[in-house]
Amino acid sequence: MTKVHNFSAGPGILPPEVLQQAANACINFDNLNLSLLEISHRSKNFEAVMDNSRQLVKELLHLDDDFEVIFLGGGASLQFAMVPYNLLRTDGKAGYVNTGVWASKAIKEAKMIGSTEVVASSEEQKFSFIPKGYDIPGDLDYLHITSNNTIYGTQMKSFPKTNVPLVCDMSSDIFSREVNGNDFSLIYAGAQKNMGPAGATMVAVRKSILGKTGRKMLSMLDYNVHIKGDSMYNTPPVFPIYVSMLTMEWLKNNGGVPHIEKVNNQKASLLYAEIDRNSLFKGTTAVEDRSNMNVTFVMHNPELEPAFDQLTKEANLSGLRGHRDVGGYRASLYNALPLDSVQVLVDVMQHFEKNN
Ligand SMILES: *Cc1c(COP(=O)(O)O)cnc(C)c1O
Repeated sequence: MTKVHNFSAGPGILPPEVLQQAANACINFDNLNLSLLEISHRSKNFEAVMDNSRQLVKELLHLDDDFEVIFLGGGASLQFAMVPYNLLRTDGKAGYVNTGVWASKAIKEAKMIGSTEVVASSEEQKFSFIPKGYDIPGDLDYLHITSNNTIYGTQMKSFPKTNVPLVCDMSSDIFSREVNGNDFSLIYAGAQKNMGPAGATMVAVRKSILGKTGRKMLSMLDYNVHIKGDSMYNTPPVFPIYVSMLTMEWLKNNGGVPHIEKVNNQKASLLYAEIDRNSLFKGTTAVEDRSNMNVTFVMHNPELEPAFDQLTKEANLSGLRGHRDVGGYRASLYNALPLDSVQVLVDVMQHFEKNN
């Protein structure tokens, strides 16, 4: 098989050994001579997968015992609704930092559920930076932030300091760098960027902040119901959870988050240095807020794009086109992407500069 360098923004690259293990489990899981896809989620073999997955999340985020970890369907987008539904009091107020498309969608849902205030936004400058130094009202039920903006390519290098419960959408940079999960009250992440395949969403939530909204709760949208059911209130997305578990084990067995953080820094530095050096390209975001996960860049002369696209194709570089709302290019450097792949992209950029 030709080696393809996969820069896809999501669903994103997974480690080859994880894909092999996942493929094996589709045929014969745990030597049961049955596929993982055809056994009960209540079997002891799958219960072990669920327990292990929840434990790995707790470990990788250093979560204390107040936290519960659950895996749900519906994508990170369902969390845009479940977060306010579970945390926003009927007479309370939620705060949001608007740093991109996903944050805007989260705000839209919260407004349907209760009083919502945007405390800071970079929308007027096309989400090209992370707002800083804004006031956070002390009476908010929670403050919602997005740690990494997958589409615009910005990333919070530090998180707001506040006594208000902090809720974070970490879909596109979870496990990419050391984070003290205890600084947050709720962390959620769709699996398909940096954690596993599409279909499962991880939610880590402090038990102590739940059950206070004064609202009658629909069962499937109630975190407490899923916590009580050990994340098996209904049939969970078994395969994406299993592959997420394999990916977390891969991470743990390869130096854990501290090691991958170093590699991620190397990958990002290599590519940003080339974007800044190369006369044909330029970055699109504030330098201090550049994402280590999604590197966005454009060409000074867009007319050269088709020729560059042809060259990247010949070099087996895949998934580099920018989001349809933004254009240009986006190289996603998720955990499973090797440094070598970034080097190939940089070589192609240099080669292209010489010939243009
Ligand atoms: C991809 C993404 C989402 C949406 O995830 P879905 O699983 O498609 O709902 C939300 N937030 C961020 C930061 C993302 O990158």
